[in-house]
Amino acid sequence: MKLRLHISRNDDLKDYSRGQYFRFAVIDLDKSKQYPANFVCMLPKKPTNNDAPHNIFSKIYRQDSIKVAKQLLTKALGSADDLETKKAITDRLKLLEPKSPILVKCCRCGKSFTPLGMRYRRQKVCSECKQKMYSGQ
Ligand SMILES: [Zn+2]
Repeated sequence: MKLRLHISRNDDLKDYSRGQYFRFAVIDLDKSKQYPANFVCMLPKKPTNNDAPHNIFSKIYRQDSIKVAKQLLTKALGSADDLETKKAITDRLKLLEPKSPILVKCCRCGKSFTPLGMRYRRQKVCSECKQKMYSGQ
């Protein structure tokens, strides 16, 4: 198998959030030189999520999923010729890195804590201080 990534842009999908303009398809150049005849599967954002029904990639590559995904993305990065594509590939590579827990310093007591479920507004006070605030202490 001669695997490569076929990255295509969906410019007409204006409502898609950034990064999703790009579709990452895994192709096998041994199968055919022409896309989509050489299409294998889509490259999932998180190859380790084996439970996702559409995640054919990890069904094929199993424990090698991350390794294969990284190799494909690194190769694609080397041949990408525009900045936007490069950025999309770099973002995908970042998703493959193991996540370290984010630690934030509480602005009341100074203790470090992991903020919970705050996507847009980062939690600044630890849960202990928050409880104190709500109970009026
Ligand atoms: Zn605190």
